[in-house]
Amino acid sequence: MPFLPPLDEDIVVDEVQSLLDENSPDTDWKAITQRLLAVHEQQKRRLDKLLRISDGFGDLTHVENLSLTEQYKKQLRRLQKIARISDLYQRTMVELNESLKQAALHDPLTGLPNRRYMIERLREQVAREQRGANGFTLLMLDIDHFKGINDQYGHESGDHVLMAVATAIQQCLREYDVCARWGGEEFLVFLPGKAVVDAQVVASRVLDQVRRIDVGRVLGGAEQSLPAITLSAGVAEYLPKEHYEETIKRADQALYDAKGQGRDRSASRAH
Ligand code: GH3
Ligand code: MG
Ligand code: MG
Repeated sequence: MPFLPPLDEDIVVDEVQSLLDENSPDTDWKAITQRLLAVHEQQKRRLDKLLRISDGFGDLTHVENLSLTEQYKKQLRRLQKIARISDLYQRTMVELNESLKQAALHDPLTGLPNRRYMIERLREQVAREQRGANGFTLLMLDIDHFKGINDQYGHESGDHVLMAVATAIQQCLREYDVCARWGGEEFLVFLPGKAVVDAQVVASRVLDQVRRIDVGRVLGGAEQSLPAITLSAGVAEYLPKEHYEETIKRADQALYDAKGQGRDRSASRAH
């Protein structure tokens, strides 16, 4: 539709009025009627536009009136949603934190507490000892000739042996005893109480249990000459006022003694 400049309605109406007054036979009534029709259409368009604006305004006020409660509810729903998301986020963070803690303090292969966990435990325990706790005993355990198992059956089989040994050790411990994977094929057991004799009993129970491991099942072979899996153990009691590292060192020396005496046995160091 071509662009038409808006008609000045007053001018058109004045013109028509004066033509009517003149009442001349030369007047082009067709052109005049067309101009009047154009004025009428222009007015009609304006009116439509006004009606549309007014309808829109009506809708708007309707929405505004409705929404006072609606908007409140909507806002409430939004807040509830945010609260739910934040709850979920917090729970996820707590779980993540827990699993990070678990991962940081446990050995992934055997699931046992790791060296770091044991050191924390010993630190706490030494602090308790200074406040008059009942002492504790350590058991250092080391798999005999483990390198040979790796060399002969492969590292993966070695891992299976490590898992089986970890299970066997745990089967012999009481609720308050703690066994950590101390190093490659070394385990450190914390036994509350200073009875070295009790600790030796625990040690020989552990050694027995390890001897009973079904090597054929663990190594997955039906070979004739499967080696028995054995452990050596060193026992040392915590001495009042010493650093826990001193106790660990004595347990290590006792283990060395047991190895020197032929392995698959335990030895203890009192001082
Ligand atoms: P001993 O009777 O004197 O203790 O001899 P050993 O062969 O057990 O001791 P050695 O210290 O010579 O060897 C320990 C081996 O343990 C060497 C290392 O490759 C292996 N080892 C350490 N950590 C792992 C592990 O996570 N998986 C496996 N499969 N082997 C490991
Ligand atoms: Mg070793
Ligand atoms: Mg060893």
